[in-house]
Amino acid sequence: ATHLVWLRNDLRITDNKALHAACCDPTARVLAVFIATPGQWRQHQMAPRQAAFIHANLLQVQQALADRGIPLVCHQCDDFAAAIDWLVAYCAQERVDALFYNRQHEINELRRDRQAERRLSGQVICQSFDDSLLLPPGSVQTGGGEMYKIYTPFRKAFIQRLSEFDVSSLPAPKPREGGALPVSAAPAAFDYPSAGVGADFPAGEEAALQRLRVFCREQVQDYLQQRDFPAIAGTSSLSPYLAIGVLSPRQCFNRLRAECPQVLENSDSGAFGWLNELIWREFYRHLMVAYPALCRHRPFIEWTDKVRWRDNDALLLAWQQGATGYPIVDAAMRQLNKTGWMHNRLRMISASFLVKDLLIDWRAGERYFMSQLLDGDLAANNGGWQWAASTGTDAAPYFRIFNPTTQGERFDPQGTFIRKWLPELADVPDNDLHQPYRWAEKQQRTLDYPLPIVDHKQARLETLAAFEAARRGE
Ligand code: FAD
Repeated sequence: ATHLVWLRNDLRITDNKALHAACCDPTARVLAVFIATPGQWRQHQMAPRQAAFIHANLLQVQQALADRGIPLVCHQCDDFAAAIDWLVAYCAQERVDALFYNRQHEINELRRDRQAERRLSGQVICQSFDDSLLLPPGSVQTGGGEMYKIYTPFRKAFIQRLSEFDVSSLPAPKPREGGALPVSAAPAAFDYPSAGVGADFPAGEEAALQRLRVFCREQVQDYLQQRDFPAIAGTSSLSPYLAIGVLSPRQCFNRLRAECPQVLENSDSGAFGWLNELIWREFYRHLMVAYPALCRHRPFIEWTDKVRWRDNDALLLAWQQGATGYPIVDAAMRQLNKTGWMHNRLRMISASFLVKDLLIDWRAGERYFMSQLLDGDLAANNGGWQWAASTGTDAAPYFRIFNPTTQGERFDPQGTFIRKWLPELADVPDNDLHQPYRWAEKQQRTLDYPLPIVDHKQARLETLAAFEAARRGE
């Protein structure tokens, strides 16, 4: 029999459910494909650096599979429709008996898979797996059989359900009988804008597992104390690997449990704090499956769609470029633009600033983040934006508005992070760093740094008024 594994957002050989299932029969001939769809990626605003990260990881997967006697063919076409055509033809050409793939949960991806299965029915047996989450969507529900809309009860139910599912990690497949193969043709450069990934995120599952091991062994204990300070590397930085499946959440959970066996019993521990973030990831994905309109960028709270957003390209551009005159926001945006990663506290601050200080539609921010993030993930990004914009379920209430100056003072008190990304503020003393224009005025100095583009107090009042009007239906 010929088994085909269709790799997508699961670029690893260890703990890969579809790959593992395809390899169970030792006599089967196992092939693998990856189909790049740059036209579709453009539609989804995928960051060029995420495409580059996919490419770099594909090379590693290709080598690892070849070592085990499994050829990985990388094909490139435009969009999902073309990908299905190619897959169907490839299955016929290779006389594939069974197709194995791990499910993706976004609507276009789901539609693609349904269509592919329909086209292959009668010829190829298709088997799909829930691999990208600890618990499958729909498995954590209220007594009334609905998706939880509030996070804390979801988490409680999630932890209860966790013991009922097998979340152990699967080994990498054993070498096939014929032994290692020469590596197939390397994937061609994608027809996508080129970008670098940066040394902070080396490709490959070994690099990801190594980072996971070190984090769980040495850092997770301090997670709760450190996770909010962008000048400290206090979080795992594993999101780019999780986003494209170089690492699985089961691997994260199992490593955490190996280092901290009491993780589930001790909810004050750093280990539990970190697990909590992994469960947020699950929450937003489960939510997206229960409410597919989220994939169409609909707000969860409908009345918020009536907010009269400001249509101002100059303000949007200043935010994108890190030129708002609010140092913590600008340093954050420059980190994003330069590296494709942004600290979670800063994602909250900069998203809040766009929506609540500039009164710009959160969807413009969601799109921009997606176009830059190495860890871009529809569910997490949409969840984060809807949280910050107060349009989501269990989001920050609309009247809670971050003050970007005091957020900076609290979470970057010495300005270590700000100085790293805004060298033009090098001379400003720590105490004045969060309002550098005041210092410049006092010193009669000119800074090569913009004045605040809005007055926070005034902006806050305008935003409150806009949300209240929308709530009244005006
Ligand atoms: P850690 O603190 O080490 O957390 C471990 C893992 O848990 C992360 O790698 C991530 O997979 C997951 N996680 C952590 N926090 C969250 C969260 N709030 N929601 C969902 N999953 C979480 N995360 C993305 O992976 N992709 C995105 O596109 C994305 N966009 C965001 C946009 C906004 C406006 C906000 C506020 C948050 C966004 N997040 C996103 C969530 C979070 O900021 C990042 O996952 C986190 O900063 C990644 O760093 P880390 O790997 O060091 O996280």
